[in-house]
Amino acid sequence: MPLQRRAKRRKNFVDREWWPWHEEDKFTKYPSFRDTHRCIPSVRSPSPVPELPDIVVYTESLVRHIVGRTLQRVRLSSPFLLRSVTPPIEAIVGRAVVGVRRMGKRLILEFGDELFLVIHLMIAGRLRWRGVGGKVPAKLGIASFDFRDGVLFLTEAGTKRRASLTLVQGETALALIDRGGLEVMEATPAAFAERLRRENHTLKRSLTDPRLFSGIGNAYSDEILHRARLSPLLLTARLTEEEAERLHLATITVLQEWTERLRAEVGDGFPEKVTAFREGMAVHGRYGQPCPACGAPVQRIRYADNETNYCARCQNEGRVLADRALSRLLKQDFPRTLPDEE
Ligand SMILES: [Zn+2]
Repeated sequence: MPLQRRAKRRKNFVDREWWPWHEEDKFTKYPSFRDTHRCIPSVRSPSPVPELPDIVVYTESLVRHIVGRTLQRVRLSSPFLLRSVTPPIEAIVGRAVVGVRRMGKRLILEFGDELFLVIHLMIAGRLRWRGVGGKVPAKLGIASFDFRDGVLFLTEAGTKRRASLTLVQGETALALIDRGGLEVMEATPAAFAERLRRENHTLKRSLTDPRLFSGIGNAYSDEILHRARLSPLLLTARLTEEEAERLHLATITVLQEWTERLRAEVGDGFPEKVTAFREGMAVHGRYGQPCPACGAPVQRIRYADNETNYCARCQNEGRVLADRALSRLLKQDFPRTLPDEE
């Protein structure tokens, strides 16, 4: 890194004196730490986007920890983290949290006067809760919210800043942020099938499209399709009635099972290990390992910096979907690099 830039970066860190945690020391003393750690190759494709089960469990934990409590202070590592201009962030300081909701893969903290703070974790954003005197998160914090008996931290690993906060006032303004995806847990089989057929895409793309379905990303779509015994590349227009019903049932079952599992893991605490690769997943993140249903090796389709996992025997009549033959289809009809950007 050129010296000038290094000096500038150092100055930035010094300017941010209020930033309390020890991470800062690491960057102040060794400004190139982040750069030297940037290129560590990941063994598996990076797609740990929190999806519906994670967000539901976050929501429930937040209700337990902050609803009814007054927000005493907000600190942001960068003004760019806040994507809205009015009302200013100070508008929520001194107010009590009156509710917590989920919208797609986003979390919404509700304050009085219909003020809604929308937290979008994107890929690497995570929430941490630390009670008074608790150890601050090891990973870099980008925002903190102080309450009387603890601090809620927003952290984001890596160097890309994608997580965001948006403060809006009024239900109408909040509704504008909604991408309109169907809430699958409450949807009837007919409504689910209608969404599937609204546009003709591969199942993988439709399930992960936030305009069509709410809260499903790369990990759980792999699990859902495996449970439904359907190929990720099957086109929604070709889906039979029976297959659509099977997919609906698989979607609800998989999301419900994982929500309950994560809920049990968290108990009365706060979710600490939010990752897309979980022990017990059938195919996602398990390339080359035996399918739990039939024992055949789990296959993958790679695209951009993501991958889809499936079992050829259970989901595609034993045929492996060759990467080469797929290239055209993938370009036209597969989730983009970040299928979860909402
Ligand atoms: Zn199988």
